Amino acid sequence: MRQVAAGVWVATAEIWTSNTVVVVDDDGAALVVDPGITPTEVDGLAAAVAARGWRVAAGLATHPHWDHVLWSAALGDVPRFATPTAIAALAGDVERGWQEASSAAPGHDRALFGALTPLGSAPVGADVPLVPPAPRGCRVVVHEAHAPGHLALVTRGVLVAGDMLSDQEVPLLDVGPGGDRARAPLDPLGGYRRALAALEDAVARYDVAVLVPGHGAVAVGRDAVAARFTADRAYLHALEQAAAQPPSGHAGCDVPRTVPDERLADRWVAGEHAAQLDFLRARLTGR
Ligand SMILES: [Zn+2]
Repeated sequence: MRQVAAGVWVATAEIWTSNTVVVVDDDGAALVVDPGITPTEVDGLAAAVAARGWRVAAGLATHPHWDHVLWSAALGDVPRFATPTAIAALAGDVERGWQEASSAAPGHDRALFGALTPLGSAPVGADVPLVPPAPRGCRVVVHEAHAPGHLALVTRGVLVAGDMLSDQEVPLLDVGPGGDRARAPLDPLGGYRRALAALEDAVARYDVAVLVPGHGAVAVGRDAVAARFTADRAYLHALEQAAAQPPSGHAGCDVPRTVPDERLADRWVAGEHAAQLDFLRARLTGR
């Protein structure tokens, strides 16, 4: 684990540069956010927390994708908070999530997978405080980008963004569980933009200077944090423009059909990009 701010530590898993965040209060009470990914890594995290004399007081799952709802008995039997919307979404799709977890990171305890406690009322776009047993000074911003009931944690000058604002992944829209378009939100692009606005408001309101994405490098400094927002908005704009063009296009058209973004050099990210471009085109043409 490495410290990124006073009381905020980050552990990075070998799979997909996945980041787990540990927030520690003065009395050693710790909040563990999105522990992952393999059982060995999660157990190692528990051992590292114990070795520092901290005690896990609560967990937090940013959103209902399988790699964000893992746990280990070694972390203790504590409430693991998530939004009611996220918990409902996971409940409706838990077997698929468990199969994905078992395939990519075998050996987790099925009984602990996604065993989450609903947060109290948290309107979309608002930021609300986490209550004990979570450490003091933790707030969550609830939004509708990427997955149902996604939240970000803001604490101690750090934004823990979940699966947004990554230097490795372009914005990944909520295109329905497992790509089931019938269950996708009506306006995933608009929801994503509103989420970016809500998070940027929180960055300004709470003087955030460090951003930890769910996957990828930590952004340190206000300029680096702002650059993540700029890059994600530019991608969404280019994606929307490209979706408005027919796939083969017309000669002489000055609206770009391609999306320039260095994150698309990754083969998996490029595949996700192609899928959401096709999703948006289908929505526009009523397919
Ligand atoms: Zn996700």
